Amino acid sequence: TPYSTARIRSDFLEFFQGKGHTIVPSAPLVPGNDPTLLFTNSGMVQFKDVFLGAEKRSYVRAADVQRCLRAGGKHNDLDSVGYTARHHTFFEMLGNWSFGDYFKKDAIAWAWELLTGVWKLPAERLLVTVYHTDDEAYALWRDMVGVPEERIIRIGDNKGAPFASDNFWQMADTGPCGPCTEIFFDHGAHIAGGPPGSPDEDGDRFIEIWNLVFMQFDRQPDGTLVPLPAPCVDTGMGLERLAAILQHVHSNYEIDLFQALIRHAAELTGTADLENKSLRVIADHIRASSFLIVDGVLPSNEGRGYVLRRIIRRALRHGWMLGVRQPFFHQLVGTLTGLMGEAYPELPAARDLVERALKAEEERFAETLDSGMRIFNDVAARATGGLIPGADVFRLYDTYGFPVDLTADMARERGMSVDMQGFEAAMEQQRETARAAGKFGGGTSLPAELVAQLVPTGFLGYDRLEADGLQVVA
Ligand code: ATP
Ligand code: MG
Ligand code: MG
Ligand code: MG
Repeated sequence: TPYSTARIRSDFLEFFQGKGHTIVPSAPLVPGNDPTLLFTNSGMVQFKDVFLGAEKRSYVRAADVQRCLRAGGKHNDLDSVGYTARHHTFFEMLGNWSFGDYFKKDAIAWAWELLTGVWKLPAERLLVTVYHTDDEAYALWRDMVGVPEERIIRIGDNKGAPFASDNFWQMADTGPCGPCTEIFFDHGAHIAGGPPGSPDEDGDRFIEIWNLVFMQFDRQPDGTLVPLPAPCVDTGMGLERLAAILQHVHSNYEIDLFQALIRHAAELTGTADLENKSLRVIADHIRASSFLIVDGVLPSNEGRGYVLRRIIRRALRHGWMLGVRQPFFHQLVGTLTGLMGEAYPELPAARDLVERALKAEEERFAETLDSGMRIFNDVAARATGGLIPGADVFRLYDTYGFPVDLTADMARERGMSVDMQGFEAAMEQQRETARAAGKFGGGTSLPAELVAQLVPTGFLGYDRLEADGLQVVA
């Protein structure tokens, strides 16, 4: 492929380096500076304190390729994986930033230059959105770039609450915020979905590729917007979505990197159809699981560890659907390392640990997966009103280690749903009667010898990145 994902990463960084940006390394998936945030879900996370003015950097322009996870907390795309062409749990976000330096004019001009000048995307297939009151961005697109008015869409506060719009970004209820402009690619009329802002905008025809955020206000506790003295730019573009366009395919799952993972997963599971949804989910989940472990998370029953466990068990259930009855998931780590190890040296460094942690979790879930699946199938066959009873959802959770979202996804595949209220009631009852926990999934801890090996790496914070010589390269 002329535009491999590797080439796109380096094209992007080179382009912004050429525009005076300092290239910074990806931060880990576990944010080191924000205890309120479960995972790094966008490129700006590691710069949060810079935007808040609490931290100063030696540069005012930065660019990077940030590994992101959207599988819990404010951003959760777990339930879109396998259902849309464009969502992953783990993905890579290409970003460029201005910390009080350049603003809308340069950000918009450079985005367009990179997309249409360097990568030669046909301009007539690009659409842009602006926040409905942002006449400045509108004028730049129309007059400076020359986008015809019918392809510039104003997006309002159409979701009820003030500023609850895809095109108005805010870090929190107070603090830095501002309008966004987003760039979309039209994959063609043969694909279902309407343009942004239309009732069927959630389809996969018009795919959002790049979001440019213009932080220009400081929202006060009383809601008023005070202009920031030095406005900032924060952008994010999905590498996999861009790769799909540049590789002339529609779905992210058809790009080079995913196809290699899918082919290996197909081999391990004896699956002939490479478009099988389960293969796509498995390919997505091996990336999320591996990088979570690289960044110091282990499967457990709470917090980040439980998100990891849920992702792994979803993948294993898909393996089961494809007929696999032996541990297979961890065997994909080698392929992943071959594909992404150069961009993320932490991955090959932790490969052995990642494989062993995954294998241990596979062995643990194997004790209950098969029986749980049989119980679910029985229950689903008998269920009335399209609802899996709460007591059964609870039994699957408590005795068979099926996280609720896993059971809900299984129900969804049959056009059914789970009785969440009934589940909560059963949960509450169990809390009251048997305080003694620890029954989940046949035990909570990994083999002690594995934990001993994993814990010292713990959280890979910025210190560790710097100790590894990955510091900022100007
Ligand atoms: P969408 O509306 O398609 O869900 P988003 O508006 O939630 O995307 P942003 O928060 O604006 O996404 O993130 C910036 C960019 O990151 C997006 O324009 C997109 O290219 C990419 N991106 C976002 N979420 C995902 C995901 N789950 N998987 C892959 N790429 C993503
Ligand atoms: Mg989204
Ligand atoms: Mg969006
Ligand atoms: Mg967006």
